Amino acid sequence: RTAYVNGEYLPLDQARVPVMDRGFLFADGIYEVAAVLGGRLIDNAGHLARLERSLTEIGIANPHTAEAWERIETELVARNGLQEGLVYLQVTRGVAERDFSFPAASTPATVVAFTQAKNITRNPLAESGATVVTVEDLRWKRRDIKSVALLAQVLAKQQAAEAGAAEAFMVEDGAITEGSSSTAFIVTRDGTIVTRPLSNALLPGITRRAVIALAAEFGLRLEERLFSVDELHGAAEAFYTSASAFVMPVVSVDGKALGDGRPGPVARRLRELYFTFAESRD
Ligand code: PMP
Repeated sequence: RTAYVNGEYLPLDQARVPVMDRGFLFADGIYEVAAVLGGRLIDNAGHLARLERSLTEIGIANPHTAEAWERIETELVARNGLQEGLVYLQVTRGVAERDFSFPAASTPATVVAFTQAKNITRNPLAESGATVVTVEDLRWKRRDIKSVALLAQVLAKQQAAEAGAAEAFMVEDGAITEGSSSTAFIVTRDGTIVTRPLSNALLPGITRRAVIALAAEFGLRLEERLFSVDELHGAAEAFYTSASAFVMPVVSVDGKALGDGRPGPVARRLRELYFTFAESRD
């Protein structure tokens, strides 16, 4: 596998970042993940716009234009012969003497990128449907920033894994914020799709945005509002979205089956619509 580090393409096992990198010492950095389908990046303008926004919010100058980012990503996809999978990008505040405050503005950001092969179209989990557990949301108050400080999400996902579940839905004040690495949705018994409105409490999912647009285009009723753990347990359906899962049906929550315990019709429809959307645009 070929990775990218600060302007160089090199074998992944030779890719290195110094110990004094602020990404390593402080998780002082931002990342992005975009899907690749048929060798093409999906909805990449949205991912690069979110990268720009996250960097601005923490005061790191974006080291590249969107065009330059896309050239790096496209080059990595080509060098790795990637047909289906993910491109990962990370930018940190660079290498400096250990000190919480920002280093000199002249300190170059560290830029790292690599690809991961992954079955997106033939993902067996989408056939069976995913199981989910609810866990407390232990994160900070700026979850709209795609920061590499992911410890609370690592612990949430591990809690899910130990419960034999695929994903953890995080809970704050009785309401679902989002999945540990995804946006959470339910479908109420009257067929309304519900997802939490954007705020500092959750990441503005790029897949979420596309799914909301598809629901509007195809006349599916959707509300952006808070929903509780109880509503999730009593929902007709649930699903989650992300660049790597696309639209993932949920078939059980906290060990109890949802609906008939199989992927629901709304989630399956949105998954199909999202594939059509992904295959039809750059
Ligand atoms: N929320 C969180 C916490 C995430 O980590 C992710 C995955 N990046 C998402 C939502 C989904 O965002 P996207 O659809 O842009 O992948």
